[in-house]
Amino acid sequence: MVDPFQRPMFEPELWGLRGKEAELAALCRRLGREKFAPRARAYDREARFPTENYDDLREAGLLAICVPERYGGLGADYRAYMLAAAEIGRFCGATALTFNMHVCSCLWTGELADALEMTPEERDSHERRRQRHYRRIVEEGRIYAQPFSEGGAAAAGVEPFATTARRVDGGWVVNGRKIFASLAGNADYYGVLCTEVREDGRLRRRDTLYLAVPADAPGVTVEGEWDPLGMRATVSRNLRFEEVFVPEEEALMPPGVYHRAVLAWPHMFLTLTPTYLGLAQAAYDFTIAYLRGEVPGMPPVKRRMYPTKQLAVAQMHTMLEQTKALWFRAISEARCHPPKEAVMRAWAAQYTVMENANEIAQLAIRTCGGQAMLERFPLARIYRDSRCGSLMLPWTAEICLDRLGRAALYEEGERDDA
Ligand SMILES: Cc1cc2nc3c(=O)[nH]c(=O)nc-3n(C[C@H](O)[C@H](O)[C@H](O)COP(=O)(O)OP(=O)(O)OC[C@H]3O[C@@H](n4cnc5c(N)ncnc54)[C@H](O)[C@@H]3O)c2cc1C
Repeated sequence: MVDPFQRPMFEPELWGLRGKEAELAALCRRLGREKFAPRARAYDREARFPTENYDDLREAGLLAICVPERYGGLGADYRAYMLAAAEIGRFCGATALTFNMHVCSCLWTGELADALEMTPEERDSHERRRQRHYRRIVEEGRIYAQPFSEGGAAAAGVEPFATTARRVDGGWVVNGRKIFASLAGNADYYGVLCTEVREDGRLRRRDTLYLAVPADAPGVTVEGEWDPLGMRATVSRNLRFEEVFVPEEEALMPPGVYHRAVLAWPHMFLTLTPTYLGLAQAAYDFTIAYLRGEVPGMPPVKRRMYPTKQLAVAQMHTMLEQTKALWFRAISEARCHPPKEAVMRAWAAQYTVMENANEIAQLAIRTCGGQAMLERFPLARIYRDSRCGSLMLPWTAEICLDRLGRAALYEEGERDDA
């Protein structure tokens, strides 16, 4: 009997992983197999937040995975986090996706911010404030969410966020509404992206603020229902902010720095992919176990001897290998100010992971057959969860294609109307 879920997604020696990358991925795989996988079905059915999984993540120190070691965290860099997160996605997509929202609050304020240009004053204030956030995560096990979607063009990166922050003595007053806020009602802080209103009243993207709004601050409400097709346990309900006072020290980045990060560190948006790469691997692994007659709870009927099954598995295998190779390359070249070629590869990797995850899941259902899609097996959930990947802004599948096409045909500054 072979248990494919025990194998690393990226075998450390073959893929040349560094020590910490391999260790963290192994830790996440163990937690996923032993703890998250058995709970996933109930969370999905009830559209309930995976609180118990978060207790396990906290106990293992993983809430601080991207908090630098000098602040008491595990000190994972971008690639180490991506590899570890993919292992979580194999066992519970919703846990991996929500975990990403939390981890971004550390990754963006940590490794990304360190690489950005800042004035000495900005650097000082950032250093002071991030210590406060990291302490909360390391010592108190607090959870952060990442609400930026508003239903307009802001989440696609085209317009300023309509959620506003008005400067007042000692901080800001925030007003607005966010949709699809994963962890709504379950996070301790919402890492809200909003636009600081200047004297002329105009909203500009360069005035974006990134603020940690305490979930229990007066004026914060969670609203709307959450009964979606997939990723049900993310509990991505809506958030409303009405005259919410946010003290100055709750800024996760100095004013203007988030916008600089968007321009200089585009791979920051690729962090939604490990969840879906994990789902793709899970669909493939399930198919192998099923066709070998080795899925627990199923009669040990083998189906692997049929050429049609072998061909389908070959197709899935090839698609998974293509996806992993491109993704690994893209996460390995993430950096501040990457060249155009690397940015285009990041869009191609995002598109490929998000589209192929669902394609591999649908091939898995077709290949395994009717009994395999009963809800007591993970395949139906993987299929539904993987459908959500290409909808994630700002790099939806459509937007990736749109940008890739233009970037391939036009060099910087080129126009056709000259
Ligand atoms: C399970 C799940 C969890 C989520 N969690 C979070 C979260 O924690 N935080 C958060 O902020 N958001 C989250 N989102 C929101 C997500 O990123 C999208 O904002 C959300 O799916 C709503 O998008 P929409 O399809 O209504 O967007 P719309 O803006 O209506 O766009 C529809 C489609 O049009 C295309 N489009 C939009 N703008 C452009 C453009 N300028 N150029 C070309 N094409 C464009 C895109 O392909 C897009 O898919 C989550 C979504 C899901 C499904």
